[in-house]
Amino acid sequence: MKLHEYQARDILARYGIPVTGGGMATTPEEVRRLAEEIGGRVVVKAQVHVGGRGKAGGIKLADTPAQAEEVARQILGMDIKGLTVEKVLVAEAITYQKEIYLGAILDRGSKRIVFMASSEGGIEIEEVAKTKPEAIIKVAADPMLGLLDFQARQLAFGIGLKDSRQVRQFAQIAVALYQTFVQSDASLVEINPLVIKEDGNLLALDSKIVLDDSALFRHPDLAQLRDISEEPPAETRAREAGITFIKLDGNIGCMVNGAGLAMATMDVVKLYGGEPANFLDIGGGAGADKVAAALDIILDDPKVNAVMVNIFGGITRCDEVARGIVTALGQVQRRVPMVVRLVGTNEEEGRRILADAKLVPAATLAEAAQKAVELAQG
Ligand code: GDP
Ligand code: MN
Repeated sequence: MKLHEYQARDILARYGIPVTGGGMATTPEEVRRLAEEIGGRVVVKAQVHVGGRGKAGGIKLADTPAQAEEVARQILGMDIKGLTVEKVLVAEAITYQKEIYLGAILDRGSKRIVFMASSEGGIEIEEVAKTKPEAIIKVAADPMLGLLDFQARQLAFGIGLKDSRQVRQFAQIAVALYQTFVQSDASLVEINPLVIKEDGNLLALDSKIVLDDSALFRHPDLAQLRDISEEPPAETRAREAGITFIKLDGNIGCMVNGAGLAMATMDVVKLYGGEPANFLDIGGGAGADKVAAALDIILDDPKVNAVMVNIFGGITRCDEVARGIVTALGQVQRRVPMVVRLVGTNEEEGRRILADAKLVPAATLAEAAQKAVELAQG
């Protein structure tokens, strides 16, 4: 789950990381009031779950409260990479000498929290990784000991900080970032840019936190920060139905039980030259309701022109899945060719239920994928 900048910033502040003040607003009038409170030059920043807002025109400086209101009028309602801006952050504008990057991610390869720092701050780190990979300094935190002070200093020296006060501040920020990461069960915490202000002190100018969905149950306070207006509606619906769903760009909708089987299904679809429209796991023991919800979500995507159902009945019963498909077919407006492979618990019963439903049966995964690819081509 992604957090907005203003939410991430508040969390970082709790861990002692220096951030700008100000607050969030949803209307130009509120922006004006906040700008009056802050006094002086302010920055108005679109709050959307994507990076590169600056380039997209979603970040503007304003010298007076009236001007702040004016730029807020331009930013609120703006579309940035497909997301509508509904909130802005208003904060004191900072003048700075330098932009730094500092981030921590969960690195699955090394099974550690890896810190990355770069003197090339302000631009997206993926860009730096492509064009100037040597400018990224990496250090892995020890799972038992955390990010040690010498490692934090190693990052600081690595990006060319020399002033002892700046090195100390940087190290404190990096260690606090580690605490934030672990204690909020994050999968990414990033400050970009971390700036060196004109007075030489460090300040986090933009922060980003992505939380691990699977650990949200441990953080009811963080779970309520979710902004569903920022999520693709299909993903929100899937989550509410208890379905794991990730939209992709292809045209073959996949309904599968089990994450591993879903991955294998996508691989086989690709092997036969097709492109999956989604990753979808209805989970173990899914009943008819869930199957119907899943099919509805799949068919909601206009690009989908064939569906491949691949169910292995263990705890999940094939007859229940078949009932779900029949229920869903009774409700959906749009029909596309559907290939169904059902094996395992109660499969004969499942096939009987589906016999009248005009579906394309398949005995094996390979056959199902081949047929789906063919049908998707029209
Ligand atoms: P992003 O583009 O979505 O990552 O948004 P950021 O918050 O990182 O802002 C992008 C850029 O806007 C920064 O790199 C700065 O150059 C500029 N910016 C943001 N806040 C301020 C500010 O308070 N003062 C100044 N001068 N520039 C700012
Ligand atoms: Mn940024």
